[in-house]
Amino acid sequence: MPANDELKALQEKYRKIAPLLEAEYGRKTFKPHDGMDELVSCILSQSTTDANRDRGFDALKAKYPSWKSVRSAPEEELIDTIRPAGLANSKGPRIQAALAQIYDERGEYNIDFLEDMPVDDAKEWLKALPGVGPKTAAIVLCFGYGRPAFPVDTHIHRVGKRIGFLPNNISADNAHPLMEAIVPPEEYYPFHLQMIYHGRAICKARNPLCEKCPISQYCDYYVEEVLES
Ligand code: SF4
Repeated sequence: MPANDELKALQEKYRKIAPLLEAEYGRKTFKPHDGMDELVSCILSQSTTDANRDRGFDALKAKYPSWKSVRSAPEEELIDTIRPAGLANSKGPRIQAALAQIYDERGEYNIDFLEDMPVDDAKEWLKALPGVGPKTAAIVLCFGYGRPAFPVDTHIHRVGKRIGFLPNNISADNAHPLMEAIVPPEEYYPFHLQMIYHGRAICKARNPLCEKCPISQYCDYYVEEVLES
C-alpha cells in the first residue's frame, strides 16, 4: 500500500477521472445476480473470452437442472458439456470440488449468506474454495450481492497501470486492495464497469487510442510515453 500522501494523490486522480469516464460510458445501476451462477460462471471465465465462458455456462445450465446434478455428474460428461469455455479438463473438476465444499460447509448449494457476512470474511470464505482467487471472490461479492469488493480483471489491471493507479510491477491479485483504497466503496460497481468499457473501447491492450481518450491529461502513460516520444 502506498504512503498516505501518495494514496491521497491517487484518490485525487480518481476524482478527476471518474466524472469523465461516467460522461463517456454512463453509469450502470447495480442489479443483483444469483451468487452461485456468478461463482460458476467466473470459474468458467478463467483464461477465455466472455463469449466462450457464456457458451460453456449456457451449456451447463441447459444440461443440468440443479447444482446437485452438476456435482454428481460423471466427470467426463461435465468436461464435455463445458468444453466451449476452454480448459474444461481442469474447470470441470474445480466446479465439482467447489460445489462439494459449499455443500459440506453449508448443507445446501447456496451462498446467499455472503450477503450479510463482513466483506473481508466473505472474501476469505470464497478464496478457500477450489479455483477461486481474489478476482473471482470480488466478482461474486460485487456483481452477485452488491458488496464493496473491487474486481481487478485484465482490463482493470492494464488500464489501472497506464493511468497510474497501479504500479507497473503489481500483479492483478495484489492490485485488489489498492483499487479498493483509491475508489470510494459506493463507486466500486459503476467505476469497475466504466474502466472495463474504457479498456475495451479506447485503452486497448495493443494500441491504446490515446488521441480519442477523454482522460489523457490525467494518464501517466500518455504524459510519459506519448507526449514525450
Ligand atoms: S491516454 Fe491512452 S493509455 Fe491513457 S487511459 Fe487513455 S487510452 Fe489509455
